[in-house]
Amino acid sequence: MEIKSVGIVGAGQMGNGIAHVFALAGFDVVMNDISQEALDAGMALIDRNMERQVSRGKVTEADKAAAMGRIRTTLKLTELGQTDLIIEAATERETVKQAIFEDLLPHLKPTTILTSNTSSISITRLASRTDRPEKFMGFHFMNPVPVMQLVELIRGIATDEPTYKALVAVVEKLGKTAASAEDFPAFIVNRILMPMINEAVYTLYEGVGNVRSIDESLKLGANHPMGPLELADFIGLDTCLAIMNVLHEGLADTKYRPCPLLTKYVEAGWLGRKTQRGFYDYRGETPVPTR
Ligand code: NAD
Repeated sequence: MEIKSVGIVGAGQMGNGIAHVFALAGFDVVMNDISQEALDAGMALIDRNMERQVSRGKVTEADKAAAMGRIRTTLKLTELGQTDLIIEAATERETVKQAIFEDLLPHLKPTTILTSNTSSISITRLASRTDRPEKFMGFHFMNPVPVMQLVELIRGIATDEPTYKALVAVVEKLGKTAASAEDFPAFIVNRILMPMINEAVYTLYEGVGNVRSIDESLKLGANHPMGPLELADFIGLDTCLAIMNVLHEGLADTKYRPCPLLTKYVEAGWLGRKTQRGFYDYRGETPVPTR
């Protein structure tokens, strides 16, 4: 089945980025949120981000106008029911996601594919509570969506081949690259990335290096574009901790135990860029290491 229309649940950081790339690729988009402010802020951000692409010559003014015209917003979840593909990108809480799918089910076309952008919740478990586990997948975009090339496609135990192939075709149409992952905690990218970040925090905790020497070492010694602590601040330290906890609990291996210093920063409310303080302090002109 060819997918032409998409319903996006959640207009936050990820939802508006997903709406942006689908609209530019020619899909009709309906974006839903429980908050009108989130919908307005999401649309304003899409407009600004597309304008930046226009000024860099990556998108024409006409393509931008056409893409903006393909996005509709609504506070009514049920208005997404007649789309070909649902991408749930609401708050990372299982009860929230489960309720969204439950509310949607009576309004869906029989052919609609359901997906979640979750970073850590079991796709198989979310799917099992719907009427179509074979048409359910993890569709994991990276942040910021318009910039990052990779999309992880996660098959639940019950996902069928036509659903998987339909999503591979969608990723191609977006001009992005798909990596297929099985449904185990944190999938591929975060399974590898988060323990590295956690190890960088242990390296800091044990006094092997300070914030600057750790980040410089990985940038210049391993050719990483960002240091691990700088990257953790960008992702959000609460998110990093939550993913480490999912790995620790889901795989029952002590090698995934979150570093006590990471927990301490989260307890302090120093969550990285979004709170202006994390491993760096962002309140001044240039970021200053906090350790
Ligand atoms: P966010 O907090 O920026 O946005 C979440 C949005 O969902 C908010 O606007 C909120 O109002 C809305 N929402 C909450 N409950 C809702 C409901 N019942 N119906 C409709 N909308 C609802 O969060 P985010 O960073 O965009 O994350 C969204 C999802 O994407 C999460 O599952 C997260 O794990 C995943 N994800 C995040 C990142 C990242 O780097 N931030 C990367 C990959 C995946």
